Amino acid sequence: MADCIFCRIAAGEIPATIVGRTDDAVAFRDVNPQAPTHVLVIPTKHLASMTDADSDEAEVALGRTMRLAVQVAKTLGLDDGGYRMVVNTGRDGSQSVGHVHVHLLAGRRMGWPPYPPSN
Ligand code: 5GP
Ligand code: ZN
Repeated sequence: MADCIFCRIAAGEIPATIVGRTDDAVAFRDVNPQAPTHVLVIPTKHLASMTDADSDEAEVALGRTMRLAVQVAKTLGLDDGGYRMVVNTGRDGSQSVGHVHVHLLAGRRMGWPPYPPSN
């Protein structure tokens, strides 16, 4: 999609620090990291939200996206300490970019549960 920021990152039209790539998925550093390691992993093909993911095509794309996320975690040395993967969806899920992305967060202890924003 021409006006989608993550499609444009996948196409190399907007700069990003790429940390992994396959034919079907791309991993890059979040511009506003919330942990010492904060990577976004996206399917190359545009998929707006998880609410659009109930299809055979999306099943394959997201499986490959998660696999790249697992590979990037290993490559970045995160397996020992562990990590968190998050897919924010829609308004209440606090999704702000309309192209499905897996947050890969690591390098500090994560809290649970995810409380509402304080502001
Ligand atoms: P969401 O709130 O949709 O789950 O997460 C969107 C994420 O995308 C945020 O963590 C935000 O910092 C990140 N982000 C937004 N625009 C850009 C960008 O242009 N480049 C990169 N690398 N990350 C971005
Ligand atoms: Zn897109």
